[in-house]
Amino acid sequence: MRGLSEVAPGVLVATSTFELTTTTVVLGPDGCLLIDPAVTLAELARLAADLRELGQRPVAAWSTHPHWDHVLWSRDLGNAPRYATPAAAAVAETERAELAREAQRSAPGHDFALLGRLTPLPGMNTAAAIPWDGPEARLIVHDGHAPGHGAVFLPGTGVLVAGDMCYDVEIPLLDLAASDPLGSYRAGLERLAAVPGVRHVVPGHGHAGDGDEFRGRLAADAAYLDALALGKTFADPRLTGPGWLRDTHDQQLRYFS
Ligand SMILES: [Zn+2]
Repeated sequence: MRGLSEVAPGVLVATSTFELTTTTVVLGPDGCLLIDPAVTLAELARLAADLRELGQRPVAAWSTHPHWDHVLWSRDLGNAPRYATPAAAAVAETERAELAREAQRSAPGHDFALLGRLTPLPGMNTAAAIPWDGPEARLIVHDGHAPGHGAVFLPGTGVLVAGDMCYDVEIPLLDLAASDPLGSYRAGLERLAAVPGVRHVVPGHGHAGDGDEFRGRLAADAAYLDALALGKTFADPRLTGPGWLRDTHDQQLRYFS
């Protein structure tokens, strides 16, 4: 992790060495909101140390979705409530053993007792927000990439923490176990596109971008889905990334052909 950098006033992002996974910190009056702390043991220790140095302790946390690299935690980060949507919290609970296996494979040594211990936020809807005393953190919930995926929008600074959507380095990764993978991903993109006043986007993996970049990524993702729906081979500039990305693309293509 290269440490925390400020993407907007009071919003800091750290980027992991593992798949450029991002961690977002929102500063509040009495501590910070921590979104998707990740990934390696050393990086979580560094994050906790960086926060201590800033005089910030996590007072609330949010996991955008129930994939192993978004439900990690370390004792050094304290005992803040770790919220997620009810659907995401339920998946993290039932799939804990598999999430732990995946974590161990890619980022060994995590304390599995802390993995995926999420508190479901009841009454999720488009008007829901994370309960904490810092800047308003609205939730945008959909099932596009995983069940109960919750992006966070900070209207005060125009920052959208998109979770595993709006990548610059990855193609849309569909939840092929869902009943309508394409429809739910499209619905997710539409929900994100409808958020007014996005000036910065922070994807779960990759690089932050400005408002124009955000709209460009939405368009690129929509074009990818349209091409995928046709079930024929096509190119996407992002497919020059790691081999697993090409494999996932092929798998998604097979699903629709
Ligand atoms: Zn994911």
